[in-house]
Amino acid sequence: MQTIGHLINGAVITEGAASLPVYNPSTGETTTAVDIASPSTVEQAVLKAKAAYPAWRDTPPIRRARIMQKFVQLLEENADTICDLIGQEHGKIRHDAMGELQRGIENVEYACGIPNLLKGEHTRNVGPGIDAWSEFQPLGVVAGITPFNFPVMVPLWMYPIAIACGNCFVLKPSERDPSSTLFVAQLLQEAGLPAGVMNVVNGDKATVNALLDHPDISAVSFVGSTPVAESIYARASANGKRCQALGGAKNHAIVLPDADLDNAVSQLLGAAFGSSGERCMALSVVTVVGDQTADALIEKLQAKMVELRVGAYSDNNNDFGPVITAAHRNRVNTLITSAETQGAKVVVDGRNPDVEGHNEGFYVGATLIDAVQPTMESYQQEIFGPVLQVVRVASMSQAMQLINDHEYGNGTCIFTRDGEAARYFSDHIEVGMVGINVPLPVPVAYHSFGGWKRSFFGDLSAYGPDGVRFYTRRKTITQRWPSDAVRENVSFSMPVMK
Ligand code: NAD
Repeated sequence: MQTIGHLINGAVITEGAASLPVYNPSTGETTTAVDIASPSTVEQAVLKAKAAYPAWRDTPPIRRARIMQKFVQLLEENADTICDLIGQEHGKIRHDAMGELQRGIENVEYACGIPNLLKGEHTRNVGPGIDAWSEFQPLGVVAGITPFNFPVMVPLWMYPIAIACGNCFVLKPSERDPSSTLFVAQLLQEAGLPAGVMNVVNGDKATVNALLDHPDISAVSFVGSTPVAESIYARASANGKRCQALGGAKNHAIVLPDADLDNAVSQLLGAAFGSSGERCMALSVVTVVGDQTADALIEKLQAKMVELRVGAYSDNNNDFGPVITAAHRNRVNTLITSAETQGAKVVVDGRNPDVEGHNEGFYVGATLIDAVQPTMESYQQEIFGPVLQVVRVASMSQAMQLINDHEYGNGTCIFTRDGEAARYFSDHIEVGMVGINVPLPVPVAYHSFGGWKRSFFGDLSAYGPDGVRFYTRRKTITQRWPSDAVRENVSFSMPVMK
C-alpha cells in the first residue's frame, strides 16, 4: 500500500517506521497510510527551514509574489487532481471541493499583493533632520497545524501569506486526509519556491508537540477543535511563541417572522447540510421567533429535505458526501439519539441511510430536529454532521440571548426584511462573523477570519490584513544624519519636538 510521506527541503521522503491508516469515507475502505514523522524528521524540517530563511527573507517581495502568481496558475491547472484527492480522503463532492479550492486560491491571490502589503509607514521630519519609519519584518520559521475538514483551503489560509511575508514554513496537516495537502505543497515547490522554504511533516499529536516545543519555531497557527486549540495556545504561548488558534463552533441562524421563508429555507439547507455539516461555519441551529413561523419553516424544510441526496463523492448528483470516519458517524448518531431521548422531536431522521452500493461508507443523512432545548447535549456540543436543530423562541432578544450565552462565537446569521432589526443584531451579537441573509459569512481573502469566545484563542485573526500582521513584526527606525544645520548639544531630557 502507498504511504504518504513528508515534504522536507523540496523532496518527499517516507520513513516507513510508523503510520496511520487513511480511509475513503465514501466506501469505508482503507486506501493508503500516512507516515508519522519521527522527532528527527521534525528536526530536519525545522533545520532546513531555518537554513533557507536568511536568503528567503532577503528575496525582494516582488520575486516572492511572482512565485505566488505561478502557484495560482498551477492550482488552477491541477484543479481536477486536487478535487479528486480531496474527495477520496475527505468525501467532499466535486463542486464543494471546487469551492474549497477556489476559496483557497483567493488567499494565494491576496499574497500576490505582498509588495504593496509590506510597504510600511513613513514620516519625514519627526524632528529637525530626523525621519522615522515602521517596517514589517518576517518572524523566521513558523508552523501551521490544520484540520481535516478543509485539507486544501485552511493550509492556504496560512502558508501563502506567511511565505510571501518572508518566513519559512512547517505544516502539519490532518492525518485523516493528507494527500491533497501534500500535493498542493508540491505545486508551490514546482512554482519555483527555493527548497526548505515550505516543508510538510505528517503525523499526530506527538508531531504537533515536537513543533510546539521547538525553540526555532517563532509562531504557530492552528485550526481545529476547541479543546485542542486551547491546549495548543497555552503550550505555544508558554514556550514564548506567537499563536493564533481557531477552534470549534455552534453557529445559530435567527429566522424572524418577516423573513422571506423560501429564501431562508434554501440558504439553511446549503449551510446546514453542505459538506455534511463538517464546516466550522455550518449553520447547525436555527432559532425561530414564534410558533407560526417555526411550523411554516419546518414544513418547507421537510419538503425540500426529502429531495436531498447523500452519497459517494464521485457522483456529482449527490448534495453531500459521507462524514470523515466511522467513529465520527457513530458520534453524530449518538448525539441525535440523545436529543430524542431528552425530549426533542426528530422530524427528519438521517441515521443509517441506505446508500446503494456504498453501505460500508460513513454516511449520515440530512437530519432535522425540532423542540431542542439549550440544556440538551446536542445543543451544547458541536455535532459537526448534517444535523439542523430548531430552537423555538418567543422574541428576537431571546434568540440573541441564547447565541450570546453559548460558549462558541464563530459565525451567525439573521434572516429578516427589517433593516433596523438586522443592524441591532450585528451591533450586539457576540460572534466574530455575522451574516445578514447570508448563511455562511466566511470573510473573503482580503478581510480576515476569526471567531469570538471559545472559537478563537489569540489576538490576530487568520489571513487577510491580520495574516500579514500575524506573520510579521513591526520594527520602527528613527534616523538622523547629523549635519552642521541640525547638530544638537548634549541633552539629558526626554527628546521632544517643541
Ligand atoms: P482536531 O482538533 O481533532 O485536529 C486538528 C489538528 O490538530 C490535526 O492536525 C490533528 O492532528 C491535531 N491534533 C489533534 N489532537 C491533538 C492533540 N491532542 N494535540 C495536538 N494536536 C492535535 O480537529 P479536526 O477534527 O481535524 O477538525 C474539526 C474541528 O476543526 C471542528 O471542531 C471545527 O469546528 C474546527 N474548525 C475550525 C475552523 C475555524 O476556522 N474556526 C475551521 C475549520 C475547522
